[in-house]
Amino acid sequence: MIHNPTALLRCASDPARSRGRRFAVTPAPTRNDFQRDRDRIVHSTAFRRLVYKTQVFLNHEGDLFRTRLTHSLEVAQLARDIARALGLNEDLVEAIALAHDLGHTPFGHAGQDALHDCMAAHGGFEHNLQSLRVVDQLEERYPHLDGLNLSFETREGILKHCSAAHARAIEAREPGGVARRFIDRTQPSLEAQLCNLADEIAYNAHDIDDGVRSGLLTLEQLAELPLFAHHQAQALDEHPGLQGRRLLYESIRRLLSAQVYDVIDASAAAIVAAAPPDADAARRAGPLLLFSPAMQAQSSALKRFLFQHLYRHPQVVATTDQAREVVRGLYAAYLERPAELRAEFAQRPDRERAVADYIAGMTDRYALDEWQKLYDPYIRA
Ligand code: MG
Repeated sequence: MIHNPTALLRCASDPARSRGRRFAVTPAPTRNDFQRDRDRIVHSTAFRRLVYKTQVFLNHEGDLFRTRLTHSLEVAQLARDIARALGLNEDLVEAIALAHDLGHTPFGHAGQDALHDCMAAHGGFEHNLQSLRVVDQLEERYPHLDGLNLSFETREGILKHCSAAHARAIEAREPGGVARRFIDRTQPSLEAQLCNLADEIAYNAHDIDDGVRSGLLTLEQLAELPLFAHHQAQALDEHPGLQGRRLLYESIRRLLSAQVYDVIDASAAAIVAAAPPDADAARRAGPLLLFSPAMQAQSSALKRFLFQHLYRHPQVVATTDQAREVVRGLYAAYLERPAELRAEFAQRPDRERAVADYIAGMTDRYALDEWQKLYDPYIRA
């Protein structure tokens, strides 16, 4: 394994050279701007809600499944370890990782799809854009401004995807801002690129674990998957007779490590080859945080496997169908009876977006409770 941290350090993000916040603030005596962003995120309301939001399995289906919060912590852990090995900025990576899913609706992707359909005639709903709305507008923490007033670099990392139309709209409000790269087709900071990969590594591994825990995936099915089978065979080589939960964890542990070391090696080589002199040059150099081609192929196969055997499993699909109904029901009810919204949402002139913001902020169980209250005639009577 490499490394040449001095060559890599030059293109790491530096809080002392941040492009700054939308509203200027007095520097903190002991913390740099990226640490401050991380702290603002951890203390936000949206962050605490992540604990009761679905990752894949609905939050109430079992206490040990990943939620958005534990997923975000795992992403932050993986991203920090890789950042340290590559000499990238760990505080920035942690801030982006902890904030990357703040805009998710209740009930995971089913909730987002349903809300997107409801909002089709009003600009749609997209969780990445919503994460940015949460930190820019929806959090109410400061006397004179909306949102958390985070640094450009953290906001850039949060806006992971963006359609051309949305990018133009954001660019009009914030010229040269976080959406500019989708128009210029450049990359975000290396730290932001790293968080995207760490997200993928985290959910691929933990969805195997949760899938087996739920009984929807079996070790026999996983043996068909080359990446898993390889690490399971190695685990059994070293620990003959290992089985059940310990065999699963030992295989996942090896699979995670292999991907982390692969990313470190492949990315270090790419960064050294491109040799960007600073963080902005790195943004123009194409993707530099990456898997080796062999690991990329294995990771894609793992993703396809999870789609086929877990995310499209009839039992998962049945619960997500119910979740869609709850979100659609909430949307219709609040549009018809805006007085049922919380006061600050009811007062907004952009009614549809206000309803979407309100629903998106809900935890799974709050959404279910509200839906029951709105639709159960006995409770309403
Ligand atoms: Mg994620």
